[in-house]
Formats: sequence, structure tokens, C-alpha cells
Amino acid sequence: MTRPIRATIDLNSLKANYLYAKQMSGYNAQALAVVKADAYGHGAIATAKALEEEADGFAVACIEEALQLRQANIKAPVVLLEGFFSAEELDAINHHDLQPLIHSNKQIEILRKHPPKTPFTVWLKLDTGMHRLGFSPDQFIARYSELTQLPYIKQVICTSHFACADEPDHPLNKKQLDCFSQTLKTLDNPPASLANSPAILAMPESHYQWLRPGIMLYGSSPFAHNHNQAAALKPVMTLTAELIAIKHLAAGETIGYGATYNVSKPLLMGVVSIGYGDGYPRYISEGTPVVINGIRCPIVGRVSMDMITVDLSSYPQARIGDSVELWGNQLSVNEVATYANTISYELLTKITQRVPRHYIW
Ligand SMILES: *Cc1c(COP(=O)(O)O)cnc(C)c1O
Repeated sequence: MTRPIRATIDLNSLKANYLYAKQMSGYNAQALAVVKADAYGHGAIATAKALEEEADGFAVACIEEALQLRQANIKAPVVLLEGFFSAEELDAINHHDLQPLIHSNKQIEILRKHPPKTPFTVWLKLDTGMHRLGFSPDQFIARYSELTQLPYIKQVICTSHFACADEPDHPLNKKQLDCFSQTLKTLDNPPASLANSPAILAMPESHYQWLRPGIMLYGSSPFAHNHNQAAALKPVMTLTAELIAIKHLAAGETIGYGATYNVSKPLLMGVVSIGYGDGYPRYISEGTPVVINGIRCPIVGRVSMDMITVDLSSYPQARIGDSVELWGNQLSVNEVATYANTISYELLTKITQRVPRHYIW
């Protein structure tokens, strides 16, 4: 390792979080491990390999992500959460035994024009109120009946997605759940999948046959507030860099680009080897903590491409070479996300390829 920065990924914790998702259903449901966007920045292949024995299947956003898994010799079912975008993808879907989601008439038209050779499973999406992808209940019932009659469709799994499951008391949750269960009832309760991480943790009535845990696998709570069920999740990624310089600055000096930080009294300042070129957000607030030897030190001045600067007043013993945790075991990615006005999902997926992933068991 040259530049001192790394994302340490604890695969044991990942596994524990996956099993915890299944435990939430009393092990009655199967679970698709959602590994889209390079497994939320954790590395899709390493993540899928680590879960290979346990996982009932994987979910990704697109065929490129699915092929990555197949090329790594992952044999488990792989679901394409947005299905296919054009007819060209159908051959590969069939050849690699992928399970596309179907959410539009256009996709069904494509399918009828290019009937696949080997029968396959599809996931049919009902729009229960998110109003992004999926069929209205009436359309859904009609499409379901058509699809189940086609000789090349092995199975149709009914699915939908929550808009507000991270706010367990939001009235839309019940509305979506009712819409889903009533539509399924009309169809004689076929296999179904509704729950993302927050619903797995907070809405047992949404579990059905297939869970779809994403963020919880990576040990980050899907909730903005403390939640009992989420407390057991184990952080998977610990993002660390190092102190590469320490300076005493006099009152009246400024720090960094734009000279935005004015030193008001003598300041011990440290320079840390991470910046927005690594995916650490440039727009994060001043005062965001980093952890050095267990002690929190706030960011001062602007985030640069390769460095940040921190106030070492709370830890004057700091030495060049000390490890600096940006998030992980001592500082949750959720807390850091609040300083960046975003959610952990975005911080994790934005860590760039420049940051080496280091896998531990
Ligand atoms: C990303 C995604 C999930 C996983 O969501 P989390 O909140 O990360 O658990 C589940 N289902 C669908 C359709 C998704 O797109």
C-alpha cells in the first residue's frame, strides 16, 4: 500500500447481517442479497463470494452487474431489479439464467417478439404507491394471467417496493401493504417479495417468500432514528486514512482552498489522506468528526481532492502516521451521512476505485 487509505470490509459481519435478515422472518423467507452498485461500494464479487454459501440469491440493477457475478462463477439466482431495457439483453439473460423484473408493457412486447429458448422466472412489479416502476393493480392482474400462460415462463414472482419503509409510522406503508396483499389475494397468493431492509426490520407482515435486504447487509441502519431491531447490525466497512502532516497555526491564519477557515486562536491542525477524489463528500459540513485513537476530531476548512484538515485540539498527542477513521466501528456511516445531508447509501456507493478494499474475515 502506498497512499495510506483503505476500506476494510469485514465479511464475517456481512454474513451475520445477511443471516440476521433471514432471522427476522423466523427463517421462513428466502433472501435476495442486494449487491447492486458494486455491493453499495463494498465490492460485488467479494461480497457475493462471501455470501455464496448462505445466499438464496442476489439482486442487481442491470445486466452488466449480473454478468460480473456470473463471470465470478456465482451460480445462485440473480434478479435484475429493473429488468431489461432492450431486446438485445434477452439472449444473455437466458444464457446466464438471470431473472428479470418486468414493469412495463414495452418489456412484455419485447418478450413476445423474442421468446427465449429456455423457460425462466420473471418478477412482475406492482406499483403499490411508490409511483416509479410497475403496473397498476388492474393491469398487474391482467399481465400476471398472460405471463403465467406463456410456455417460456417458469414462474412469476410478484413484487413491489416501499417508498417510506424507513419511516415505520408513515401512512403510505399500510396503504402499500394493503394494495399488495389485496392484489395477491385476487391471484390466489402467488410467491411474492416486498420487504427492503427497513421493512425486514420493522414490518414483519411485509416479509412474504422473498426478502430483499440491501443496506442492512452492510451494517448500516435504514432508519434515521435509533431502532431496536437495527441496533444488532454490524458495520461492515471501516474507512481509514492517516495523519500525514501536523501543524501549529497562529491566530489570524487561514486553512485550505478559499481560505474559508479562519484560525481564531493558536491551533494544532492535522492533514488526513482522504478527499473527494476518494469519494469523501466535498460538501460535508465543517465540524464533521473523524476518529483518531478513539478520540473525535472535527474537520476544519474545505475538503480537497486528496486531503482533509482536522482540528487536533481534543487530541494533542496525535502523531504523523496515526490511523484516522472516517466511518466504521467507532463512528457510524449514518452519523457521518447526517453531516453531509445525505444517507449512508450515497456515502458508501460513492467511495471511488482509488480506495483499496481490504477484506477480512
Ligand atoms: C435497492 C433495492 C432494495 C434494497 O433496499 P435497501 O433499502 O438497501 O434494503 C430492495 N428492492 C429494490 C427494488 C431495490 O431497488
